[in-house]
Amino acid sequence: MKKIGLTGGIGSGKTTVSKLLEKEGFPVINADEISRQVMEPGSEVLNDVAEIFGSDLIDKDGNLDRAELARRAFKDDHSTEALNGITHPAIRWRTERLFEQYRDEEAVIYDMPLLVENNMVRDMDMVVVVEVPADIRIERLVSSRGLDADDVRRRMAQQATDEERAAVADVIIDNSGTETDLAPQVKKLVEKIHSLS
Ligand code: ATP
Repeated sequence: MKKIGLTGGIGSGKTTVSKLLEKEGFPVINADEISRQVMEPGSEVLNDVAEIFGSDLIDKDGNLDRAELARRAFKDDHSTEALNGITHPAIRWRTERLFEQYRDEEAVIYDMPLLVENNMVRDMDMVVVVEVPADIRIERLVSSRGLDADDVRRRMAQQATDEERAAVADVIIDNSGTETDLAPQVKKLVEKIHSLS
């Protein structure tokens, strides 16, 4: 089973590309989804979060106030490390189980925004980077998700740069055009994935 890392900056179109690859028959492991799942109501991680960051973060239905946790956990390095110490082992465990579940597949797509930042490039058989100039990404995120442009810029500044991602890419998907423009690029990518095995 080949591991295909799919990454790109915020709003570059990772989800859009991963859906096209899913249609081509490849299973997708979504890192953001796993991060959310480990903090589902009643989970051990959520109990630990409440113990360290405050039980008022969790409402009566067991749901976490993510925005407030982010405020408390990202206020200094010590708090961030404390949160990572709770969540990272659970995320790692769940990710490994999913890869194991797909071990008989030809290839699995790992949709991971922080692939470069977290030094996971060498664990992949192929790295695919979705690229879109920052101004277009901001425009798309503001119009489609109603995000604040300055907020998006701040998050971009915390991520790897386009140059850093391009430097480790085996394949670059240019998503600056329409979604239709993705089709031939995805087709070429699928051929390249098949040629790995
Ligand atoms: P995030 O970093 O937040 O996880 P992402 O990289 O998964 O985002 P998408 O959610 O696929 O990116 O795309 C971001 C937004 O841009 C979405 O609203 C999506 O519909 C839109 N989008 C993606 N590709 C295109 C395109 N080629 N043309 C216009 N809009 C697009």
